[in-house]
Amino acid sequence: MPDCIFCRIIKGEIKSDIIFRDDRAVAFPDVYPKAPVHILIVPIEHIPSVAELDEAKAAICAHMVTVANRLAREQGISESGYRLVTNRGPDAGQAVLHLHMHLIGGKEMGDIA
Ligand code: 5GP
Ligand code: ZN
Repeated sequence: MPDCIFCRIIKGEIKSDIIFRDDRAVAFPDVYPKAPVHILIVPIEHIPSVAELDEAKAAICAHMVTVANRLAREQGISESGYRLVTNRGPDAGQAVLHLHMHLIGGKEMGDIA
């Protein structure tokens, strides 16, 4: 997807501090962090949002969770706690139409919505 910011980050066309990469996903810090730890876990495949995941495609979600858990341990927030958030659609405030999971932690958080 040529106009997709996250596809361009994955391809290296937009500079980002890639902190994890394998054949299925990448992770990099959110450019506008909302907490001391705020990392985006992004599948390499351009999938618009979680709504496009059926039973067959949902395996990527399990992988994203596994990556997030590993990064949470590396960032030292596994015990203090963290949130994994994925937004879908306008009411959720999805701004980038390429599936991603926010790993947020390092501070006490309020209600979810
Ligand atoms: P959404 O609202 O779609 O769930 O989250 C998109 C997130 O991507 C936002 O938190 C925003 O700060 C982040 N973001 C948008 N553009 C860029 C970018 O070019 N680089 C990085 N690292 N993060 C971005
Ligand atoms: Zn994309």
